Amino acid sequence: MEFIDLKSQQDRIRERIDARIATVLDHGRYIMGPEIGELEDALCSYLGVKHSIGASSGTDTLLIALMALGVKAGDEVITVPYTWISTAEVIALIGAKPVFVDVDPVTWNMDPALLEAAITERTKAIMPVGIYGQTADMRAINEIAGRHGNLPVIEDAAQSFGATHHGVKSGALSTIGSTSFFPSKPLGGYGDGGALFTDDDELAERMRWIRVHGQQKKHYHPVIGLNGRLDTLQAAILLPKLELFPEEVELRQTVGRRYDERLADIPGIECPVVGPGNTSVYAQYTLLCDDRAAVQEKLQKRDVPSVPYYSVPLHLQPVFAGLGHRKGDFPITESIADRCLSLPMSPYLSEADQDQVAAALRD
Ligand SMILES: *Cc1c(COP(=O)(O)O)cnc(C)c1O
Repeated sequence: MEFIDLKSQQDRIRERIDARIATVLDHGRYIMGPEIGELEDALCSYLGVKHSIGASSGTDTLLIALMALGVKAGDEVITVPYTWISTAEVIALIGAKPVFVDVDPVTWNMDPALLEAAITERTKAIMPVGIYGQTADMRAINEIAGRHGNLPVIEDAAQSFGATHHGVKSGALSTIGSTSFFPSKPLGGYGDGGALFTDDDELAERMRWIRVHGQQKKHYHPVIGLNGRLDTLQAAILLPKLELFPEEVELRQTVGRRYDERLADIPGIECPVVGPGNTSVYAQYTLLCDDRAAVQEKLQKRDVPSVPYYSVPLHLQPVFAGLGHRKGDFPITESIADRCLSLPMSPYLSEADQDQVAAALRD
């Protein structure tokens, strides 16, 4: 069994992808070709936002967002220790300090109840993450940000793109939304890529400059930027995938429900819970179990792959040792990191495969 099945999707749209790639090879505009704008428009309609900006990855998007907001060395940006390294990495990369707050035990995302105490006069942005496919309580986070001088909120929606929070799509929930098109993400391309979303005209313009070396117009650079463009070819590949995406979000939710049903009564396992007001796109189906290494080994023997993502949380990563954290600082994060295990997940996972996963776990 595959951990993430990308082949079934390709079988459905291979012809459309081939035709799109051929069009790019014919027109030859490999950098910022017409497919970029076409994809950005399609993403705006999907999310219901004013601006969408394609970029080179879901890491560079976070960096571009921070740069556009003017975050600089010595500033503080609040995020969570239970996430992929990118979220905190980009904060450190521009010389700012990642300030961690622990996650909520239900959604495993930023706990708004702990946020306020972490805000100082040096706080320049708040960066919640939508881990495994559902968002944080963005309503509560936006409300707190609003009360503290309208602090900008950057939503890292790399895993939650396709999910909703009180009916609003992830990526459209705050000052800036950021997502990734890494192949295994809910909306994945065939290489690296990402996108930014905002309703703010000025921020959108700055992010567009920063994406292309801080260039406002030809031969004129008002700000520092980077080479952060999305490839035309990736945009061409993502267009037919985005057409399929709403249906795939529903399929993912069906697969998630089927796991819930099959695993609910297995002792020693805690299934993931979708928080109030949320839907999940199940970027991963991740449960909690004790004695994880033994469970993983037994699953492997029965041809069921599984992955313990973020099992070393960011506050305990050697690269962030300088922040002076130690074990015990973020107990909810640590208890999830010690026990989490992600199961095979894709919109096309069959009931037979899910039965096999459940049987192996029960064993
Ligand atoms: C994948 C991911 C990123 C980075 O995306 P890339 O496109 O791989 O750079 C950032 N944040 C989270 C939460 C992710 O899962």
